[in-house]
Amino acid sequence: MISIADNLKNVRQTIKNAANSSARDPESVTLLAVSKTRPVEDLKEATNNGQRHFGENYLQDALAKIQAFENHPGIEWHFIGPIQSNKTRPIAESFQWVHTIDREKIARRLDEQRPESLPPLNICIQINIDDETSKSGISPKELPQLAATINRFENLQLRGIMAIPKAGQPEEQTRSSFRQMKTLYDQLKAQFPSVDTLSMGMSGDISLAIEEGSTLVRVGTAIFGERIKR
Ligand SMILES: *Cc1c(COP(=O)(O)O)cnc(C)c1O
Repeated sequence: MISIADNLKNVRQTIKNAANSSARDPESVTLLAVSKTRPVEDLKEATNNGQRHFGENYLQDALAKIQAFENHPGIEWHFIGPIQSNKTRPIAESFQWVHTIDREKIARRLDEQRPESLPPLNICIQINIDDETSKSGISPKELPQLAATINRFENLQLRGIMAIPKAGQPEEQTRSSFRQMKTLYDQLKAQFPSVDTLSMGMSGDISLAIEEGSTLVRVGTAIFGERIKR
């Protein structure tokens, strides 16, 4: 039987080792537990073991979980799936973060629909770093314009960029993609002081991503085990 507590401990140790080996502060890396398809009990086990950030891809599932944790302070919900424009309102109302912004239209709707009673919604722009036709995200050359647009929206806070490198690549290819992301991130940070998040790295490449400068790793399988089929 897998234990989420043990898995979390191992993943935290992996993060610490990777940070130490690249002379970085382990505290500079946030662990986002990707809980898509997982039942509330699994998330409870994670919160009981100190996990605070959760990533969800499917809106309806996510809303039910958010509701189940309504009285649990301090949890932050990150939307990391593709966004249809008719789904923006519940995202604006219920999440603290969105990692998958690649269009002004979606950003504008989130800005308009973010309740005034809440702090600004934290935004990462998704970059299609390996230029895959099947993948969401903008090209690096489109970044300055979209970033400037988001920066002007009062109810959004530009926090950084996110990428999912091409799957099944040799390690050196993935490293190179992460490196390009780090360069883009440094440029963006120099221009916008609110930028502090480089969202990259998943179960299979946590250490690699941290060595190349990730500040937030999105980890599902290594915490919760093999994904449950929807
Ligand atoms: C599912 C998912 C993850 C987690 O992937 P694992 O390989 O299970 O760690 C990370 N990021 C995004 C955007 C995802 O959809």
